[in-house]
Amino acid sequence: MIVAMQEIATEEQIQQVIEHLVRMGFSVHRTTGERQTVLAAVGARVDFDTRNLEVLGGVQEVHRISAPYKLAGRSFRPQGTVVQFANGLQIGGDEVVVMAGPCSVESREQLFKVAEQVSKAGARVLRGGAFKPRSSPYSFQGLGIEGLKLLREAGDRFGMLVISEVMEISQIEMMLPYVDILQVGARNMQNFNLLRELGKVKSPVLLKRGIAATLEELLLSAEYIMAGGNYDVILCERGIRTFETYTRNTLDISAIPIIKQLSHLPMTSDPSHGTGRRDKVASMARASVAAGADALLIEVHHDPDKALSDGAQSLYPEQFRQLMGELRMIAPAVGRKIA
Ligand code: PEP
Ligand code: MN
Repeated sequence: MIVAMQEIATEEQIQQVIEHLVRMGFSVHRTTGERQTVLAAVGARVDFDTRNLEVLGGVQEVHRISAPYKLAGRSFRPQGTVVQFANGLQIGGDEVVVMAGPCSVESREQLFKVAEQVSKAGARVLRGGAFKPRSSPYSFQGLGIEGLKLLREAGDRFGMLVISEVMEISQIEMMLPYVDILQVGARNMQNFNLLRELGKVKSPVLLKRGIAATLEELLLSAEYIMAGGNYDVILCERGIRTFETYTRNTLDISAIPIIKQLSHLPMTSDPSHGTGRRDKVASMARASVAAGADALLIEVHHDPDKALSDGAQSLYPEQFRQLMGELRMIAPAVGRKIA
């Protein structure tokens, strides 16, 4: 950490800052130039709040040099993390994995129809919510355990892995027999108790960015899971809340290359929640692959106008099939293939 003192800082103020840093466990290297004193603080502490220094007398600015996360940072595994599945599928390798399916599991008929179509088009992972985090308590809340059983059956029938959202600690145990990837939704990105428990399981976790979370906060949430021993974390950009109202959220495409630089964890893009409207999903999916996404999470429904959740952003199966063809052309342009 670098602490630049004001030109008018007194020797007493400089000594106060040095003492503060030493108390916090840093070793301090002082440089006094013609006009200004600069302190370089070196130490292993990662949880230090730079504001504690900024408010001390005589301090001009404070810059953190090391990241506040360790396990999630790129330097922990410079070669990148590849999440491996028993069927040979990899997320984070050369191939881009497409996960698709309905927002919610609504019925056997609905799920099997959508699953058959997305698998034919090339999806390798079937998505579907059994426990739904709805903004209104009066909206459809999901089929629960019945939904999980249907997901497993449909995934196995059509040769796809299964991803579904876990909303609370009590659901983890019951979900493990049915899902291959546990999804943590945007609303739960900072549910630290849930993240800690997910650190103890063996299944990969797909962690979505919160609607108002910085990328550093996303990586700190990943750190919670990894600190418990579960290193199979897959990150996901799903749009953040901005002043723009044309789209449901603003898909932050730049989050993809930024995360790939800051972290070794695979990065996913969800253009469905990222836009909220099906007419914009395909272009943002293409942009995500071009920007380096390792996977996509896309909502598809055979009859979206009757969907019990997120119909407006769900692609028709035919649109999804067409999109997959486009992605197969874009991926090679950036040195990838569609799995
Ligand atoms: C979902 O994937 O259906 C979902 C609820 O996502 P998010 O947590 O990103 O809103
Ligand atoms: Mn949804």
